[in-house]
Amino acid sequence: MTENAPAPSTRWTAQWKELYAEVITTGLCTGCAGCVIACPHDVIGYDHQEKGYRPYHLEEELGLDNCIHGEKGCTSCTRACPRFRAWEPEANEHLFGRDRADDEMYGITKDLLLCRASDDYVHQLGQDGGFVSAMLIWAMDEGYIDGALVSYLEGDGTSWKAVPGVARTKDEILKAAGSRYTYSANTLAVKEALELGLSKLALVGMGCQTSSPPVMWHRKIGKVGKPFVFNVGLLCSKTFDDAIFEELFLAKYGLRKEEMVKMNIKGVFQIWMKDGSYHEVDLKECHQWTREGCKMCPDFAAEHADISLGGIGEDNDWTLTIVRTDLGREIVDRMIRAGVIVSRPADTDEKAMKLLRTLSVVSRRRWPGFAHTAVSVGVPPPKKKAAPPAETAPPAEAAPAAEAGPPT
Ligand SMILES: Cc1cc2nc3c(=O)[nH]c(=O)nc-3n(C[C@H](O)[C@H](O)[C@H](O)COP(=O)(O)OP(=O)(O)OC[C@H]3O[C@@H](n4cnc5c(N)ncnc54)[C@H](O)[C@@H]3O)c2cc1C
Ligand code: SF4
Ligand code: SF4
Repeated sequence: MTENAPAPSTRWTAQWKELYAEVITTGLCTGCAGCVIACPHDVIGYDHQEKGYRPYHLEEELGLDNCIHGEKGCTSCTRACPRFRAWEPEANEHLFGRDRADDEMYGITKDLLLCRASDDYVHQLGQDGGFVSAMLIWAMDEGYIDGALVSYLEGDGTSWKAVPGVARTKDEILKAAGSRYTYSANTLAVKEALELGLSKLALVGMGCQTSSPPVMWHRKIGKVGKPFVFNVGLLCSKTFDDAIFEELFLAKYGLRKEEMVKMNIKGVFQIWMKDGSYHEVDLKECHQWTREGCKMCPDFAAEHADISLGGIGEDNDWTLTIVRTDLGREIVDRMIRAGVIVSRPADTDEKAMKLLRTLSVVSRRRWPGFAHTAVSVGVPPPKKKAAPPAETAPPAEAAPAAEAGPPT
C-alpha cells in the first residue's frame, strides 16, 4: 500500500490553471480528452490531428493558462483528469476500496484468462481473439449497455485515420473491430452518444482513457460521469503519430497506406497489403514517431478498466483478459456460460504472464520523478550491466525496453 491515498474530505479547488501548469505543460497529458468532455462551459477544445491530440483553452481573456470559469469556482476539468495529482490511488480506492499493493505492477486483478470469440466471423474480424467485439455485442443484447464509444477509420478506411465514434448495433461494433496504432480519443464520442439519447455506455480505450471515469466518480464530478457504465481497457505501450505513415512506411519502404489492409505489433510492426504481401518494420525505427502524450505514460495494463484486454498471448488467436471488477467478472462468467466465448486460465501461457509484468514495469519507469509518487511505488529499478573486466561472468539482465518489441 502507498501512503499517498487521498483524503476524500479535502475540498477540491483545482481548476484549468492548475491542470495547465501541472499536467499539460509538464508532458503528463496523454490527450485522453477527459477534461474536454467534462467542461460544462465548453471552453476546452481538442485537436484530434497529426502532432496534436492535446486539449487547449478556447477563451483567451485570462491567457491560455487560466480560466475565467475556474476563477469563479469551476473545477470539472481537474476532477476528470487521470494524470492530475493522486489519480492512481484515487481511482484504485474508488474501484477496489484499496490502493494497489507495492508489487501489483499491472494493477488490481480478480481473474486472468485467455479468451476468444466462439463465433468464427467475430473472431476473424478481431485483432486478437475478437473478445472485445464479442463482449460489446453480448453486453448490448443483454441490456448492460445501449452504446459503445469505439474507434473507427475515417471515410472508406484508406486514410488509416482513427476517429472516435459511437456503436449501437452489431454491425457498427464489428466495423470498429481491430487495432489502429495511432491515437483515437474515444471519450470524445460521448457527446454524440448523448445526442443520440444513449445513457448506458461502454468506453473502449487505452488506460489513459479508461482511468478517466473512475477519477471522475471519485472526485464527485456529477452527471458527466454517469453515462459510463462499463469500462473496457486495451493494454498499451504507446501509440504513434499519424505522420509515421508518410514519413516512414511510405518514404522508406514504399508502403502506401491506401494499399494496407491490416497491421499488428508482435515484436515488429507487421503490415499486410492488398496485393497479399506482408512486411515487417523494426520497432526501433518507429520509435521517433512515438506520440508525445505516450512518453511518460505509466499504465500499460489499463489498470482502472472493468476488464483489460491485450494480445500478448503466445498466438494471435486469444485475447489476454484481465478481469478487475465485480461487473467485469459477472459479464465474463455469463459469457462463458452462454458459450459466447471460450476461455482458459492465463497461467497456461507463462510467457504472456511474464511479459504482462515486464511491460507494466517498463511503462511505470517512464513516470517522472516530479509527478505524484504513488505510481512509482514498488517499481524495481533497471538492473545494471555487469562491470567490464568480468570476462567470465554472465552479463546482468538488461532493463527491458518497451520499443524492443512488446507484442500487442
Ligand atoms: C493503440 C493500441 C495499442 C495497443 N498496444 C498493446 C500492447 O502493447 N500490448 C497488448 O497486449 N495489447 C495491445 N493492444 C490491444 C490489442 O491490440 C487488442 O486491442 C486487444 O488484444 C483486444 O483484441 P480483440 O481481438 O479482443 O479486440 P477487437 O474485437 O478487435 O476490438 C478492438 C477494439 O479496440 C478499439 N480500437 C481500435 N483501435 C483503437 C485505438 N487506436 N484507440 C482506441 N480504441 C481502438 C476498436 O474500436 C474495437 O472496439 C493495443 C491496442 C491499441 C488500440
Ligand atoms: S490527461 Fe486527459 S484529462 Fe488530463 S489534461 Fe490531458 S487530455 Fe485533459
Ligand atoms: S501509452 Fe497507451 S495508454 Fe499510455 S498514453 Fe499512450 S495511448 Fe494512452
